[in-house]
Amino acid sequence: MKPVIEVDLDAIRDNYRAFADALGVQVIPVVKAEAYGHGALAVSQTLVAAGAPMLGVADAREGTTLRDAGLDVPILAWLHSPMQDWDATFAADLEIGVSSFDMLARVGDYASRGTRRDLRIHLKLDTGLGRNGIREVDWLAVFAQACELERAGHLTVAGLMSHMAGAGESEDLAQIAAFERGINVAAYAGLHPELLHLCATGAGLRYPQARYDAVRVGIGLYGLSPFDAGEDPGITLRPALALRGPIEHSEAGWRVDVGSADGLAPFASNSEPLPPLIDSHGDRWRIASLEATHCILEPLEAIAEPPAKARGDRRILTLIDREPGGSATADDWAAAGGTINYEITTRLSGRIDRAYLAPEPLQAADAQVTGGDHRTAPLRKALIDLDELRFGLQEQFAPADLSADAYGHGAAKLLPLVLEAGRDVIGRTRVDVARLRELGARDAQLRVDAGPETREFYGFGDGTRHAAISLRSELINVKRVLPGQAVSYGYMWRASRHTTIGLVPLGYADAIPRAVFERGYVSVGGAVMPIVGRVAMDQVVVDLGDHDCWPGMPVHIWGSTTGDVSLHDWAEWTGLSPEALCATLGTRVNRVYMTTEPYESAGFGRSTVRVISQEQGDHA
Ligand SMILES: *Cc1c(COP(=O)(O)O)cnc(C)c1O
Repeated sequence: MKPVIEVDLDAIRDNYRAFADALGVQVIPVVKAEAYGHGALAVSQTLVAAGAPMLGVADAREGTTLRDAGLDVPILAWLHSPMQDWDATFAADLEIGVSSFDMLARVGDYASRGTRRDLRIHLKLDTGLGRNGIREVDWLAVFAQACELERAGHLTVAGLMSHMAGAGESEDLAQIAAFERGINVAAYAGLHPELLHLCATGAGLRYPQARYDAVRVGIGLYGLSPFDAGEDPGITLRPALALRGPIEHSEAGWRVDVGSADGLAPFASNSEPLPPLIDSHGDRWRIASLEATHCILEPLEAIAEPPAKARGDRRILTLIDREPGGSATADDWAAAGGTINYEITTRLSGRIDRAYLAPEPLQAADAQVTGGDHRTAPLRKALIDLDELRFGLQEQFAPADLSADAYGHGAAKLLPLVLEAGRDVIGRTRVDVARLRELGARDAQLRVDAGPETREFYGFGDGTRHAAISLRSELINVKRVLPGQAVSYGYMWRASRHTTIGLVPLGYADAIPRAVFERGYVSVGGAVMPIVGRVAMDQVVVDLGDHDCWPGMPVHIWGSTTGDVSLHDWAEWTGLSPEALCATLGTRVNRVYMTTEPYESAGFGRSTVRVISQEQGDHA
């Protein structure tokens, strides 16, 4: 048996029905970021079968993937780059959240050239969150322009939306009041959108007066509460996700092969301890240390003998339990990691198998964001320098550790380089070794305790080598704000002066752990800028000060260019190893490979590697 994430689709369907009953308005299930780690296609199919009228995703590529898989309800996507390919975006028949004048101009341009007459957009207002969304000072101008496009028959303004910050009751009420002003200004401008929607799970439960026509429900559908422990959500929730793995035993002791490279949250100092984990025999364990690829375990009871090799007698450890009262839950992991339950499920790696407990058989296999050639999503790119890796491999003689899908670099892409350099191939878990053998490394060996010298070639050490991987994105929205402007959930940051804030479309589902709060920096146009406010699932905000910045401007998260912040800086800020940071890059991050030499990828004949030159890589 391999580690597996079990998803109870029955529970998700029950949660959907409970919200539909309790809220009394349309529930728009939010299935972005692989349905918070649960699997977007399986969850979407279940909810549409249960009557969901619409689905919500962050970017259009996620929407297109669901559309291509046969889901035919309206799909709303709200996180876009003005630079993306709008023809391809609209080809999938999605409804689009528009958050700036700039984006409306591009959408309008497409709409007036095209032959389609049924484009539906939702205007996304900033009512205080200070993130995506149109500033209040711009509402009238944007609404007037949208109204003109609507009257010309180019598009329909189907909705007016905003998003709450959950910063406390008076702040929430101020946001609701701002949304009311938005509705009035829209009517004044001549717009009559049919769907008004402001709230996500938390505010939808708290403020009946703010439910309008629909509530976008994410976390609640997965059976988890958006509120602090101790606050009753007032609705019965059934958690849907469990994580289990077989307990392994060797000379070095007990372990389970799931670690921080699989997305397990490291424990924060001065947080709650994690409750005991319980195995299939009812025995209790604690995690003695959390490694990249596994947890070292200690039994809390005397365990009589090593677990029998016989399959039927294997001890299966529940790392994340659905119901309280058993093993640790997602909420327990969040408390121990100093984070929120959202991050616990969302960051679990797509490499772990999902097993669905389904009310009805599912139509297709698992949904993975497939991408494709069109740029229908904001830029999120991991650039991997194969020449740098080659060079590193030639310098050393230790075996090469290709675990955790080669720590986010793609094992199939690295294997030929390792073989070419004549280095032995090792993996730190059975699953890794089996996969490497499948890829053609017939002599791949299991080395659970492989030391740092086996990963030196990635540039993970803090010695002389650069990391071979760098992470790039772009600004997708830029706005000038007044002193006092708050940013992101809980209003944990406020502008102390006139400044410019920029939106970067990477969040904890992609690459930016929440732990970087109040610590992280990125490089924009060669200048280092602080990340401000809470890290969200899909985005972060940077304070650009008085720098002249524009939407589409490149952002280097970490990189090898002089002046950039480095992967090692990020390791220090987040408490995650470079291995874990790279291995947990999410499925929405595109891997792009650079090499100047001939190259053939391992396994599966057809190579998906794009061999491009360094200069092209910077613009791809
Ligand atoms: C993620 C998201 C939601 C869902 O939030 P939950 O707190 O998980 O219910 C709703 N609306 C927008 C715009 C979002 O980005």
